[in-house]
Amino acid sequence: MTSPRRLLILLPGGQPHVLDCGPLRMSFREAPLTGTLLAALVPPDLSLDVTLVDGSVSPIPMDGKFDLVAISLITGMALKGYELADHFRARGATVVLGGIHVSLLTEEARPHADSIVVGYAEQTWPRLLRDWCAGRLLPEYRHEGPAVIAGLPLPRRDLQKPFGYVMPRTINATRGCRQACDFCVAPAVPLGWSTRPVGDVVADVRSLRGGTFAFHDLNLTDDVDYAKELFAALRPLKKKWGGLVSTKVAKDPELLDLMADSGCSYLLIGFESVSPAALRGMHKGFNAPGHYHEVVSSLHSRHIVVQGCFIFGLDDDTPEVFRHTVAAIDELRIDIPRFALYTPFPNTRAYRRLKAENRILHENWRYYDTQHVVIRPRLMSPEELDRGFIWAWRESFKLGIASKRVRFHRNTRISAVGNLAYRLYGHRLKSDADRFPPAMPASPGRT
Ligand code: SF4
Repeated sequence: MTSPRRLLILLPGGQPHVLDCGPLRMSFREAPLTGTLLAALVPPDLSLDVTLVDGSVSPIPMDGKFDLVAISLITGMALKGYELADHFRARGATVVLGGIHVSLLTEEARPHADSIVVGYAEQTWPRLLRDWCAGRLLPEYRHEGPAVIAGLPLPRRDLQKPFGYVMPRTINATRGCRQACDFCVAPAVPLGWSTRPVGDVVADVRSLRGGTFAFHDLNLTDDVDYAKELFAALRPLKKKWGGLVSTKVAKDPELLDLMADSGCSYLLIGFESVSPAALRGMHKGFNAPGHYHEVVSSLHSRHIVVQGCFIFGLDDDTPEVFRHTVAAIDELRIDIPRFALYTPFPNTRAYRRLKAENRILHENWRYYDTQHVVIRPRLMSPEELDRGFIWAWRESFKLGIASKRVRFHRNTRISAVGNLAYRLYGHRLKSDADRFPPAMPASPGRT
């Protein structure tokens, strides 16, 4: 009897928000769904022996013997992913590359793989596996347009590293986003918008052990009617959940009530800036700083913890933006702030504009993780931007400030864990030369 062929599904790792304490390596974030869903989509009759590794929280089995290695790439992990692809090919494995970076820069990825997957993989991945088993693998599998996500199998969460994530149970209800923020990869890859049947989502939630989970959607309430139907169906399950939404959520009190009644306990919201001009510049004019108070208080009044993301390095940002933003966060009573740098991911509108203005410092994708300066800002130097960014992380999580933040909310545990994790993260950041790599030559396939 021949042994089953071995498939490695690999996320290369390199996530910035990771806590490393000796043998304990844990992500501050929710567990990714890509790997567990790809594993679930493996046709059972192929009898493959599947291993799933997220390099952010587990060692990569470099010496392992695999017949097929599938690597999913986001931009910040792309270069590491190519190195891994070359490594496993040299060891005799067939290598497949997919993920958002491959859809953004297909020609860059192609030389590192035997086959590439462009677009959503729900239909193409099982077909690819059948072709590979039959010895007729094609060089490319492409899905155009929105994801087809009705009737998906339950993710193989049993393959995920136990205790690897602050939130190990993640769910997907929608795909894509219909907004057009210029820095975001969602509108850059025209993959459309789709919703999963509410019954499928409820079945997935029911299958979870434990009373808490997180939605992994980019913008869970982008379709308000769908969101209301979903929240009404979740209510009887009596679970607590968190997710990502836009500031638009606060416009609809019925939506907010349904959301709170369905168990919503925290939300991550991209406020991005307290400057209306900066928001208009990034095509996120639907965010209105004058209404941020209302957004936060409408969620607090329903006992929902607010994580707020703010971006530095926008065209209207001066060196005062850091103090200004940290003070505004305090005043708005945002429970868990988070900071990012304006990053022109390849082929986004921001990328094309900054490229035309000759303001992209380098295209070393390793630094495209929203935590490194990769552009020349308009009203300060890159070094000033880097120093101000690190200052904001540290200042915002000083013990006195963070503990005051934790005390004022009823949902203390989520707020306390979030503030502690980001305090540790901020303290690890150092403004040094390593934050600015030497420029790289342009890659083929970049437009
Ligand atoms: S609302 Fe969020 S997910 Fe949608 S385009 Fe803007 S940044 Fe991207």
